[in-house]
Amino acid sequence: MLTAHIRATALAATGLSCLTMAILYGQARLWPVALVLATGAVVCADTARHVIQAAAERHAPAAAVERPAPALDDVVAAELNGACCELWWTSAGTQHSHDPKEPPR
Ligand SMILES: [Zn+2]
Repeated sequence: MLTAHIRATALAATGLSCLTMAILYGQARLWPVALVLATGAVVCADTARHVIQAAAERHAPAAAVERPAPALDDVVAAELNGACCELWWTSAGTQHSHDPKEPPR
């Protein structure tokens, strides 16, 4: 099985060959053949672009999974910063060290 980059490189080389042949046939004024080869060059270029884009989309979820989880200290610090007051935190959200209707001092 070819990798995406080898496949895209082969498609690009085939497209360039088609383009070269299209130019040569165009110079020889064999327009139908030149037109078919130019179309083949465009299709090869578009397919190479599609192969690269599909490979990038296949690897994107794997890269997201490999991202390291935030450190426990960062998670705790973020939770503490979001806490109302210290008593609220230590009482699991059941008590406040101030009037709950007013913001903490
Ligand atoms: Zn509070």
